[in-house]
Amino acid sequence: MITDEIKEEVKLAADLVEVISDRVKLKRSGNGFTGLCPFHNEKSPSFHVSPHLGIYKCFGCGRAGDVYSFVMEQEGVDFLEAVRLLANRYNIIIPEGNAIDDPNRHEREGVFHALKFATAFFHQHLRESDEAKEARAYLIKRGLKREFIKDYLLGYSPESWRGLADAAKSAGISDEYLFKAGLLKESDTGRDPYDTFRNRVMFPVINTMGRVIAFGGRLMGDVKAAKYINSPQTLVYNKSEALYGINIAKNEIRKQEEAIMVEGYMDVLQLHQAGIKNVVS
Ligand code: ZN
Repeated sequence: MITDEIKEEVKLAADLVEVISDRVKLKRSGNGFTGLCPFHNEKSPSFHVSPHLGIYKCFGCGRAGDVYSFVMEQEGVDFLEAVRLLANRYNIIIPEGNAIDDPNRHEREGVFHALKFATAFFHQHLRESDEAKEARAYLIKRGLKREFIKDYLLGYSPESWRGLADAAKSAGISDEYLFKAGLLKESDTGRDPYDTFRNRVMFPVINTMGRVIAFGGRLMGDVKAAKYINSPQTLVYNKSEALYGINIAKNEIRKQEEAIMVEGYMDVLQLHQAGIKNVVS
């Protein structure tokens, strides 16, 4: 059960124009907004948003609804998840014991937080550290542009035993959550637990909600170790369900009603950069 009050409270707090603007470039028109419909392919805008009524409608394909139906359709989630996402985004606290109060939520949020920290850490290293020279050269050699590398949050994990773990600790993130996020491993030799990803180019795997859920890491140079390693299964990462690139590709896939599946991270990146965006791996 979710009460009508919560439904209303979240809906009032949610900014319909802001939520839709994540997906659609809106232009003011009269007392509303128009843009290209995200539900069908069109060249001239027939998608209308009326903020004062709290609704949208497309005069091309007929899709219409409120902020909940928009999130459900665009994120591919059910009603409860749509309420939860919007409540999170607009800082509405849902009382405990409610249907959308997930018992694992606290733990999941801790894992997401650790992954987000790691993404920023790896990305900063790729951009700034001397050690990442080879990684930068690799990405540029594969044709990726600087801006693009930034947009896709690519990174570099330093060579050291606990580079990420120590930085995370200083930021108040415990080893416990790094383990749960698949970012830390127990050592067989009795040393401290160590970073899962070391001296690798890092590819964050981002879900449809725009949150990092896992990483792929590619080794540099000719070392006798697996060229690619990936995050293990975690509370927020189910390998058999995750698709690399889906956060960017989802709208294009919906429009074109076609998805192209390729093998690796680099295949997705190169095709996206070339403007072919309905591609995942
Ligand atoms: Zn439409």
